[in-house]
Amino acid sequence: MSKIVIIGSGCAGLTAAIYAARADLKPIVLDGYEPGGQLALTTLVENFPGFPDGILGPEFIEHARKQAERFGTEFRAGAVSSVDLSARPFKIVAGRESFETESLIIAAGASARMLGLESERQLLGRGVSTCATCDGYFFRNRDIIVVGGGDTAMEEAGFLTKFAKRVIIVHRRREFRATKIMLDRARANEKITFMTPFAVEEVHNVSNSSVDAVTLRNLETNEKSTLETEGVFVAIGHDPNSAVFKGQLEMDENGYIITHAGSKTSVEGVFAAGDVQDHHYRQAITAAGSGCMAAIDAEKFLTAQKSLS
Ligand code: NAP
Repeated sequence: MSKIVIIGSGCAGLTAAIYAARADLKPIVLDGYEPGGQLALTTLVENFPGFPDGILGPEFIEHARKQAERFGTEFRAGAVSSVDLSARPFKIVAGRESFETESLIIAAGASARMLGLESERQLLGRGVSTCATCDGYFFRNRDIIVVGGGDTAMEEAGFLTKFAKRVIIVHRRREFRATKIMLDRARANEKITFMTPFAVEEVHNVSNSSVDAVTLRNLETNEKSTLETEGVFVAIGHDPNSAVFKGQLEMDENGYIITHAGSKTSVEGVFAAGDVQDHHYRQAITAAGSGCMAAIDAEKFLTAQKSLS
């Protein structure tokens, strides 16, 4: 029986682990599908305080992991396939292992939706990005495209005009899912133009490890064309990695876990941190902060339980 299990080893999970380990709770961290979370998929992180020259995402994660290990965190591979939060101890199955724990921190993150192209995958972090706040700075004076027609696409495009020479929003329909105010704002921005209804079919140039063009298909005429661009921001939404908790924890309509009074969820003893409960900020620093909060909340919970028994 563990005192605390942490699901997810991204920025939130690792910060929770460092705090829980230093509180002598001997945390077990379950890595999940994407060990290291979204930071492990990015290149240079320049907005995390303390790194004046920036730090590579995977290197940052490696440091945080070692830091958590140094204080006694145990890591286990394997994605969580089922949980039972109906009574304590909570039960978790991950890979071939089962765990029982007095408290649980869910830091399973969110995954950016991708177009599903092999070239997009290979160029992620090399001209393809899912986060304008993180990577916009690298696209100073460049021509870039943003894919998507929702509020995120409009917001990212607006943000990117601070850096880019020109931003083209490429969307698969003539109608937009974005709210009117966001769409109007994007339309009023003279650096932004729109291309609809187009699908991105290929990102070039994998052999150069950088982006120089995309193949587009006009979804009305089926005609293919090449558009030169130096960056592709995929802004087609995020999905919280919360499916396994469905029906057991309160969530919003998009599947984000609802937290209150810090990191508490609707089940006593279960806490949530990072992007699985935050669709608004989605930053490494805010995920780390909420991971810290979750570990402190879990420790308080465990201390209160002990004094009851
Ligand atoms: P969203 O509203 O679900 O929009 C996703 C967009 O991506 C849609 O236009 C969709 O096209 C397109 N898309 C999805 N899959 C695609 C694919 N495989 N290929 C090409 N295009 C694809 O997601 P979101 O924009 O991230 O917004 C999520 C929520 O956060 C919304 O409720 C939004 O209002 C909110 N939000 C608010 C703000 C703000 O108020 N400042 C900022 C960001 C987000 P279709 O329309 O054709 O389906």
